[in-house]
Amino acid sequence: MQGTERAVVRLTESHTEWVDGKPVERSPLLVELADSATAQDKRGSGSGGAGIPINLGVLALQDLIRGRLTRLRNYLNLAPTKDVLAGTREAWTYAKDERAGARINDQAWQRIEDEFPDWVRRITEEVSPPATTEILTACTNCGESKAWVRGDRVSAVVVKWYPEDLDRAPVAKCRFCEFEGVGWGYMHYDLDVVNRDVLARLGVDVSVFARVNLIS
Ligand SMILES: [Zn+2]
Repeated sequence: MQGTERAVVRLTESHTEWVDGKPVERSPLLVELADSATAQDKRGSGSGGAGIPINLGVLALQDLIRGRLTRLRNYLNLAPTKDVLAGTREAWTYAKDERAGARINDQAWQRIEDEFPDWVRRITEEVSPPATTEILTACTNCGESKAWVRGDRVSAVVVKWYPEDLDRAPVAKCRFCEFEGVGWGYMHYDLDVVNRDVLARLGVDVSVFARVNLIS
C-alpha cells in the first residue's frame, strides 16, 4: 500500500523526487502529462495542421487514465468527474476507507493497489522517453562498428536507456546484424570500449555503469 500511496502523491501533488542523489521538485505527474500534451513534440508526432503541436501518445494516455479512473470510481459508487487530480485523490481515499471497512475483497483491492503505480509508470514512460545514443564500439555479435543508414555511414551500435524509476534494462541494438543486447551485463562488456565522453555529454552518469559493473 505504501507504493500506491506514494504513487497517488506523485500523480496528484507537487513532490520531491531524487535524481542522481539530488532532490528535484516535480509537479503532479498528471499535470506534467497534461502540459506535455501540447508541448513541442521533439519526437515528431504531427501537428494537426493548425499550428498547434499535439502529442498523440500523450492524448491517448490521458484518455486511458480518464477511462480507468471512471471505471474505478464507478466500482466505488463515486460519480464521474472531469477533475482527474481531485478525482484520483478522492477515489484512493475512499477506496482505503472501504477496504478498512472490509467492503473490498482481496482481489479487487489488489487491482486498486496496482492501478496508480501503473499510471506513474506509463506517464514516466511518456514524458521521459528513453535516451538514445550511438556508441563507437564494435558489435559483440558481428564485430562491425559501422553501418549504413539511408546512405550515411553511422555507428553500428545504438543504445537506449530509460529513466531510473522505470526499472528497465538498457538495450543495445546493432544496425548491421540486428543483434540486440539487453541488460547491464551486456552494457558492462560494451561500455568498457565506449566513448565515455559521448555518454557524459549526453548527461549519462557513467558512474552508474561503473557501479553496476561491480555487481554484474
Ligand atoms: Zn552486429
